[in-house]
Amino acid sequence: MSIASVLTAPPEPTAIRLLPHPGEGTGTGVPAESSEPDLLRYLSASRLKCWQTCRRQFYYRYVERLTVPTAPALFIGRQIHEVLRLWNWGKWKNEPLTPGQLRAALVERWEADAAKEFVPWKTPEDEATAKAQAWAMLETYFDQCPVAPDEQPEGVEVEVECSLGDGLPPLYGIIDLVRPPGRIIDYKSAARSPSEGMAEHQHATQLACYALLYRSATGEMETGFELHHLIKTKVPKVIISTYGPMSAAMESELFFLIDDYLEGIAREAWVPSPGQHCAWCDHLPLCRKRSGM
Ligand code: SF4
Repeated sequence: MSIASVLTAPPEPTAIRLLPHPGEGTGTGVPAESSEPDLLRYLSASRLKCWQTCRRQFYYRYVERLTVPTAPALFIGRQIHEVLRLWNWGKWKNEPLTPGQLRAALVERWEADAAKEFVPWKTPEDEATAKAQAWAMLETYFDQCPVAPDEQPEGVEVEVECSLGDGLPPLYGIIDLVRPPGRIIDYKSAARSPSEGMAEHQHATQLACYALLYRSATGEMETGFELHHLIKTKVPKVIISTYGPMSAAMESELFFLIDDYLEGIAREAWVPSPGQHCAWCDHLPLCRKRSGM
């Protein structure tokens, strides 16, 4: 069965978001949230990953639903994802976009988003530098991308819902790209190169979710994963990490995590997990204050 016949065709360019965020309609088929947090209505890789990282962070993000400024790195990553989506979508439709069209899309989308949200750039020049850097990362990727220019994607920015069985919320996700035959691709933008083997470890929850979604949508097993890292060094780099299909152990770990998530939410176990990840937590000042520091 072809994934193209099963998975949702790519939507018109709208807000790009890898995974649904509570508190607003997604416009992409994922049910809109009610005004009350409903943490058991669906599962997603971002919810599970946040839970896994720190339950207190999960509480701030999904229960209190605190709004925070958009971190520059997140903003840049979103813009890059959007251009990659348009690039792949053009290939999907057999209407490839030129570098000029892609650059214009980056500028247009950047300016539209920058007008809507607060991004705490350190200086006004920082934003222009970041925009140029984002384009340099994309140019490097287009130049070094391992995907043949004429390769037809099996799916682009595909939205999938998967039932996990009786009594469990469904799982939702959006997969960046599926290459033939059944390779799940996820784009990452980062300030530094991933160390050997760490990328798979760090992203295991997300990859396992995508594998379940893919298998449910197609009735077939994925042939593997690729993480395409666009690295924001002075001279941008591209690192491709390739992995085999989800193992039985990875699948078990995901279901252990889902059990823990469901039990923890029922108990309202918003336990903080202080660690190195606090350095890039949006809620560090509040968390310290509430912890009496
Ligand atoms: S600062 Fe650290 S402990 Fe506090 S919510 Fe953020 S990640 Fe959790």
